[in-house]
Amino acid sequence: MTTRAEILKLLADGQFHSGTDLGRRLGVSRAAVNKGVRALASFGLEIHSVPGRGYKLPEPVDPLDRDAILAELGRRGDLPHSLEVLETVDSTNRYLIQRASALVSGSVCLSETQTQGRGRRGRGWLATPYRNLLLSMAWRFDAGPATVAAFGLAAGLALLEALEEYGARGIGLKWPNDVVWRGRKLAGLLADVQGEAAGPALVVLGAGINCRLGAREAEGIDQPWVDLEEVLGSTIDRNRLAALVIGRLHDACRTFGARGFGPFRQNWERRHVYHGQSVRLMTASATIAGTVAGVDSGGALRLIDARGDERVYHAGEISLRGA
Ligand code: ATP
Repeated sequence: MTTRAEILKLLADGQFHSGTDLGRRLGVSRAAVNKGVRALASFGLEIHSVPGRGYKLPEPVDPLDRDAILAELGRRGDLPHSLEVLETVDSTNRYLIQRASALVSGSVCLSETQTQGRGRRGRGWLATPYRNLLLSMAWRFDAGPATVAAFGLAAGLALLEALEEYGARGIGLKWPNDVVWRGRKLAGLLADVQGEAAGPALVVLGAGINCRLGAREAEGIDQPWVDLEEVLGSTIDRNRLAALVIGRLHDACRTFGARGFGPFRQNWERRHVYHGQSVRLMTASATIAGTVAGVDSGGALRLIDARGDERVYHAGEISLRGA
């Protein structure tokens, strides 16, 4: 464990710790403590420094812990995964994609903070450092990219089920792959797909789950959002939640690889908050009104227009909103 990770463990209780005390407990110099604290602050962790008293986090924090996640996965009887927990990274999806040649299906990467978190179409995903879940998983499918296009939807369902297993109620899906609570976005997924048309395909799935969003990040989000702390009214054990998400995504990957979108489709439609509802689809150049009839076998949205004609829309450039 790095010195800064050890410092974080000691600061995690949210109490004051003097530089001298931290140095003594870790067997390092005050200068080394200083350097470690500066590094943590550079990753976006808010640390108060009060002369004469020392360092303190504004609130206790529960750092991501690889061993705790693996232990939880083991308890659930899930297969062991290649699992990396990073302090900072540009984006967890990009991190896995850059290592594509060495990846085995089920490789997972989590990070406490992202400097370039992505949503669809290059839009940003914002997360308060050390308080949320930013997680990516890679999976190889025998089929080509077009066949696995619907996988993002199946993964969204897996994410929803993991959140429900954790205790969240009243949540649903918004096409193509957001999890929402009372119209506010709780989690988002981004699927990056690579491969030849005939297959195989490598899918890297990135999930951003709001466990606790701070005011600074919230200010930058231009649509209604919510975090799991508000949904549940309690603090979140991110390591347990991470294990639930990894386990569910893993199951979804295996099922999708063997049987495609079929086993997920009906359940996905049942959990879609706009199923049967009037909506607007917003493309770069137009807004299309209609009623959601469901999704097709490729994960495209089926929309009935005012004349009663059905058309399907692929997620690429489209945002879905209530009418
Ligand atoms: P849309 O929301 O337009 O339907 P989308 O749901 O696919 O598209 P993404 O592109 O996946 O959205 O995510 C990026 C968008 O999500 C950002 O433009 C911003 O509005 C919003 N966003 C960014 N960070 C968060 C967050 N932590 N929680 C909720 N929403 C966020």
